[in-house]
Amino acid sequence: MRALGGPRVTLRRMNQTVVVAGAVYDRGRLLAARRSAPPELAGGWELPGGKVEPGESPQQALVRELREELGIETEPLTRIAGEWPLGPGLVLHAWTARLLHGEARPLQDHDALRWLAPEEADAVDWLPQDRPAVAEAMRILAAC
Ligand code: C5P
Repeated sequence: MRALGGPRVTLRRMNQTVVVAGAVYDRGRLLAARRSAPPELAGGWELPGGKVEPGESPQQALVRELREELGIETEPLTRIAGEWPLGPGLVLHAWTARLLHGEARPLQDHDALRWLAPEEADAVDWLPQDRPAVAEAMRILAAC
């Protein structure tokens, strides 16, 4: 029985889609985005991002998603340790990223943006699944 356990776990991992979220920094602040859809998430604040498409690296997906959703160019820096389940077949990873250029504006999926200093971390109602990554992103920002 034990021999069968390994491959089954591996297969389940391979079928998981990674959602990559960006802890985008600029001038000592972290970007927070308020979701406008789907209805069950609308009003919740998140680290913006989206699904990694087949053939993409997580970093490529993050750059693409931030360009599409917010109109900004970013440079992914490092992965925030950990992963957080979002539901069947979906898992959230987070990366820190630096704003290169552009002014963030909500183009799709969001209806408000805020740049938060470390002491403002709790100023918005973060989606529960994003909270561990936000806490770590703010800890990194405060140490810079
Ligand atoms: O943005 P997109 O719809 O591609 O995200 C896919 C899924 O990942 C959605 O269910 C979304 O709520 C979730 N997500 C999340 N936290 C994020 C980014 C996305 O829970 N920071």
